[in-house]
Amino acid sequence: MTVIGIDLGTTNSACGYWTEDGPKLIPNRLGELLTPSVVGLDEAGAVIVGKAAKERLIDHSGSTVAAFKRLMGSDHKIMLNKKLFSAPELSALVLRSLKEDAEAFLGEPVTEAVISVPAYFDDNQRHATKLAGELAGLKVDRLINEPTAAAIAYGLHQKQEGTFLILDMGGGTFDVSILEFFDGVMEVHASAGDNFLGGEDFVEAMVDALLNELQIEKSSLDVRLLQTLYMQMESAKRRVSQMDTQEILLDFGGEKIRWSLTRDWFSRVATPLILRSKRPIERAMSDANLSPAQIDDIVLVGGSTRLALFRSTVGRIFGRLPSTHIDPDTVVALGAAVQAALLSKNSALDDMVLTDVCPYTLGTGVVNEDSPQQGLYFLPIIERNSTVPVSVVRRLATAADNQTELQLEIYQGENRLVKKNIFLGQLNIKIPKAPRGKEEIDVRYTYDMNGLLEVDVTVVSQNKTYSKLIQRNPGVMSEKEKEASLKKMAALKFHPRESEVNRALIAKGERLYEASLGDKREKIAAILSQFDAILDRQNVNEIKKAQLQVKELLESLDSEDWL
Ligand code: ADP
Ligand code: MG
Repeated sequence: MTVIGIDLGTTNSACGYWTEDGPKLIPNRLGELLTPSVVGLDEAGAVIVGKAAKERLIDHSGSTVAAFKRLMGSDHKIMLNKKLFSAPELSALVLRSLKEDAEAFLGEPVTEAVISVPAYFDDNQRHATKLAGELAGLKVDRLINEPTAAAIAYGLHQKQEGTFLILDMGGGTFDVSILEFFDGVMEVHASAGDNFLGGEDFVEAMVDALLNELQIEKSSLDVRLLQTLYMQMESAKRRVSQMDTQEILLDFGGEKIRWSLTRDWFSRVATPLILRSKRPIERAMSDANLSPAQIDDIVLVGGSTRLALFRSTVGRIFGRLPSTHIDPDTVVALGAAVQAALLSKNSALDDMVLTDVCPYTLGTGVVNEDSPQQGLYFLPIIERNSTVPVSVVRRLATAADNQTELQLEIYQGENRLVKKNIFLGQLNIKIPKAPRGKEEIDVRYTYDMNGLLEVDVTVVSQNKTYSKLIQRNPGVMSEKEKEASLKKMAALKFHPRESEVNRALIAKGERLYEASLGDKREKIAAILSQFDAILDRQNVNEIKKAQLQVKELLESLDSEDWL
């Protein structure tokens, strides 16, 4: 049975599997390798995933959602057609779509997967990703860090030894990893990142700067106009590295405004974000104890690394340009597919060993008598960039006389005060009465290959152990909640796979219709109504032929390349 590798991205998702010739991508039902991570419900309440949903973002913004990966690990919910969805549920719908595509392509059921996550995903976000897999009917064999996946695919492809810097900037996150390949062993030396820095932020900054210059309140714009503006900025961003000036026709409801977007303007708007990307790079370099000259190659991953501004900034830091011969969009899914094959003990990969690191520090809170007013201080137990799996024990003593209870709080982060780190959960431990400092506990943190944490506490005098129980973990459901969620998913309607091609085409046609005027608009209307008539006749061959024609016609009329 095939285990698939999945890149569950903020913007796009992809999946792959292992073949005799190495990892290969699996095309989706539209024959495309990338599936936009967009989910919507149609008028009849049926689920739409991918390109068809993305086409509906503007006209059906109340029933379509994108970029929900950013909400993974939080308890934020999204309303679609009056139904509430959690981020893992939305992700599960994308995973389910990928799973079905893989099953159709491979001709067998697919029940297991390796899913990639940003290296900098915290414990809550990892749990949420695993949960999304389960809700989609997939056993998640391993969560692999995205840059690690990219490095595996790159390493296999290049068969080159050395030390590599992987920079992955996608739609919502920026990840940095430093890896070394030597004698078939791939070792991650350091990871760093920013969970809130990606392509979407550039678009957001462009929209804000533009509205600011024109002195237009964002809140005064209706949703449709705003969505259109976002889409225009998205397209402009993709062209900005090639074009000095772009003429854009802006529509704020009244008269249309012609506006020139220059590369300089973009650079100014984007510079604060570009500067932010330097921080994780510097931190990873210093954690790995390396100087720029010791990096053999720089590998770019993720759509946002196509920005010339990003490339030149990296070029300046390292005194040379990054390599550009791998496809930044698909390399993570290919690496996840290799990891899947490694787990299935595929003999072609016998000589490859992979080690990864824990990207952040895990610890607990302790009392600091010198300045108790600051609250608990952070006591690191597993330091960031320790090689995983790792298990570390620290012995702690009671802080008060006759203390009978101890609350061990579990945190992740790099600040010396726990209140500035991420709370992961707590363990309540009963302790025999004794003068302070007499009773001791052994706190063991175990961090596994998936980047998930287990905590055990042993009361030394009693040899009694309390285990993990990370409570109050947003994004993690109880068994009961999981059941309810599975039921909810089962009750959702899905369209037959074949009809998705038609739906994507119609959605695209409708978007173009809305966006155009005059002759062009009439042309689109004619194409769509002819297509409707053909669909009504339900002749499979005729429909197939018409799909190709409509696709070509619409593409020739589409000037935006945002999809
Ligand atoms: P994710 O891993 O988050 O799903 P991707 O790696 O697919 O993301 O990258 C998506 C991001 O890349 C989007 O924000 C998109 O705007 C950006 N992007 C794609 N092509 C370009 C381009 N030519 N120039 C700048 N940004 C681009
Ligand atoms: Mg990505």
